[in-house]
Order: sequence, then structure tokens, then C-alpha cells
Amino acid sequence: MKVGVPREITPGERRVALVPDVVPRLAAAGHKVLVEAGAGLGSWQHDGAYERVGATIVTVDDLYAQADAIVKVDRPTPAEIGRLHSGQILVGLLQPLLDPATMQTLADRGVTAISLDAIPRTLSRAQSMDVLSSQANIAGYKAVILAAEAFGRYFPLLTTAAGTARPANVLVLGIGVAGLQAIGTARRLGAVVKAYDVRPETKEQAESLGAQFVTLRTAIDATGTGGYARELTAEERSTQQAELNEVIASMDVVITTAQVPGRRPPILVTAAALAAMRPGSVVVDMAASALGGNCELSRVGETIVTDNDVTIVAPENLPATLPISASQFYARNMTELLLHLTKDGALHLDPEEEITAAVVITRDGKVVQPATAALLQAAGESAHRARRRPEVPAP
Ligand code: NAD
Repeated sequence: MKVGVPREITPGERRVALVPDVVPRLAAAGHKVLVEAGAGLGSWQHDGAYERVGATIVTVDDLYAQADAIVKVDRPTPAEIGRLHSGQILVGLLQPLLDPATMQTLADRGVTAISLDAIPRTLSRAQSMDVLSSQANIAGYKAVILAAEAFGRYFPLLTTAAGTARPANVLVLGIGVAGLQAIGTARRLGAVVKAYDVRPETKEQAESLGAQFVTLRTAIDATGTGGYARELTAEERSTQQAELNEVIASMDVVITTAQVPGRRPPILVTAAALAAMRPGSVVVDMAASALGGNCELSRVGETIVTDNDVTIVAPENLPATLPISASQFYARNMTELLLHLTKDGALHLDPEEEITAAVVITRDGKVVQPATAALLQAAGESAHRARRRPEVPAP
């Protein structure tokens, strides 16, 4: 199979789907790697490094014309979709549940769309393909680095001839993959770390990394399915908030990573909590996206300072800010998935197999992944109902 790596064109994206390191493994399995000229430059992977391990550098036109599979990081733009042809395979972080309409377009064009974010994460043999974990790990690390940079004091306890510096008090909200990495990184920098999550099982994980787990007076267990959290009820939210506000007010740095699949991230740092923080405190809202964030005042992609001098950092696409590590991990996850889905150098999809069933979103002109198909059907039915709604007679 000819595997094509285009240059990512989403603004701010610096990752690349395959790095030179993984090319020999793909070649050994019978694949040929084509790379668009300059595709790796955002992560300092030069064309020559790809050529040295046997990849071929081509123009973007040749790439889309010749490749059997296009492997990407970000969801394709309309211009990129326009370049895909029937029978071609597209693999990337397609986020089908956020954008089912694009999946329908891909199906209509006869493209087989395969999404890395649909990997069944709790399946141990799929762990090496788990891009969400590898990239969340990077984001958790970088969130702490950004916090340390924005914070006007040391993180560690330092005793010097010029005096003693108190360690920073850091609170990590959300103890998933990113939160655990944030705890570990803040501890390595010498901070005193507290952490909180609505899934009680995370207490032991946080403590094993040296954080103190915050136990609220009113215990909430919001363990959902697949290791994720469920959305809190309105009553749980208000109890949680009142108690969390007290903890937040005593912190120097708050790093928020809380997500609920398919929903807006919960607000955990309210405007009132921010108003009670000391000047110079820092909030890094890692959950911030177009859907919203964990901090009420964060503005995605911006760093703002509140009236009481609290800095709120709401970075977009943190993994892209550590492009070498992010691309290396992404490329290894991608390679594992490609090797899993191919046999003797050709695509071999077994719809009965668990990983394949989860990641193949479109095939043979149809959207085949049940969750995405259901969203499209619901959207179609509501559009149909809107068309049939009787016109309101003029008064
Ligand atoms: P995520 O990004 O969906 O959420 C991050 C964290 O936010 C979660 O721990 C969640 O419980 C927490 N959260 C949600 N609402 C909250 C609220 N109101 N207040 C406080 N915290 C809140 O999670 P993730 O990092 O993608 O990981 C999800 C789960 O998947 C974890 O249990 C992780 O261990 C598991 N996982 C398992 C495997 C595996 O078994 N191989 C691999 C990867 C991830």
C-alpha cells in the first residue's frame, strides 16, 4: 500500500502523521511511504531524513493522486477532502462525533475514513494505538510548563542566602491521562500538589504520584462508562462548586483537565472563584476549546489577566506546541493501527474485529460506525421535521 503523508494545514498545527523513525517498520510490512515536500518541517523532520530511510518526497498533487492511504493528524479541511478520490483511505483524528456531516461527505466521495480517536481505549491490545492518551500526556506536561512560565514565583521550595522561597501550591482538576501527567510534572518541579476528580478510583492514582487528593465533604461518585465521568446533576454541581471554590482560593496555580465525552466541559473555576484568588495566581485551562472550558472566563487561544490579577491561560492544541514528541508518539500510534489494519501490504478490514469495528467510520459509500450513523440519522430526522412544520398563517 502507498501511504501518503501530507503537510498539515490547520493554523498552528506543527505535528506530522509519520516521522522518519517509523518508515522502516512500514516498509518491512510491504508499504511504501510518500511524503509531501516539507510535511515534517513543523517538527524539524527534514525531507532528507525521510529519504534516508526509504520514503519518497513528492508534491502535494502527486501525493493525493498516487497514495492509497492518506495519513493525517487533523480533520481534513474542505480543500483537502476535495483532493481525495474514490477508493482512497483516510486515517487521522477525524472526530466523527463532533462533525458527522464531514463523515457523510467522505462516504459520498467513496473514501474509507478511519479515525484514531475512536480506538477502544480500554482494550489492552489497542493501547499502543491510543492517540488520545499519547497526546493528552503531552498536553498535561505542557500545561504545567505554561503555568510555571506565567507564575511569578518559584515552583520548588528553595533555601538560599537571599532567603527562602515557599513552594507553589498547585491544584489539578480532572485526574485522567493529562491530569496524571500534570501532577507528575508539577511534582518534579517541586510544587505541592493537590488534585480532584469525580471518579473516586483516581484518588489512589493521584496519591501514588505524590499529590494530595481533595475529598469534598459531600462525596460525589460520577463514574461513567469506559473509565470516563458522567455529567453531574445540577444539585451535585452546585454542592461541588461551593466546596471547590474554597480550595481554589488558597491555590497559586490551578490546572484544569476535566472533560465529559460528547458534552461541554464542566465549569469548575467560576468567576466567583477567580475573584477570590490572590494576585499573581495562574489558571491553565487545558479543557478549553470551541465547546467551552473548565474556567468560566477563559478565552480559547488567549492569555488574559483578570481585574484582580489572575492570569488565565487557555491554550489551543497543546500537543502541537511540543511537536517533536507529539509527532513521534502520534506516528507510533498511527503505525500500530496501520499494521493492524493491513495484511501483506494491503488493507484488510475485518468488520467483526473489535478495533476495526470501532475505527472504520465510512466504507463502501456509507457511514458504517453506529454512533456516527445515529447522529446523522437524528440530524436528518430533525431537518425533515423542520421542513414539514406547517407555516404559521399571517396575522
Ligand atoms: P477525559 O479527558 O475524558 O477527562 C479527564 C478527567 O476529568 C477524567 O478523569 C474525568 O473523571 C474528570 N472529570 C470529568 N468531569 C469532572 C468534574 N465535574 N469534576 C472533576 N473532574 C471531572 O479523560 P481521559 O484522560 O481521556 O481518561 C478517561 C479514562 O480513560 C481514565 O479512566 C483513563 O484511565 C482511561 N483510560 C484507560 C485506558 C486503558 O484502560 N487502557 C487507556 C486510556 C485511558
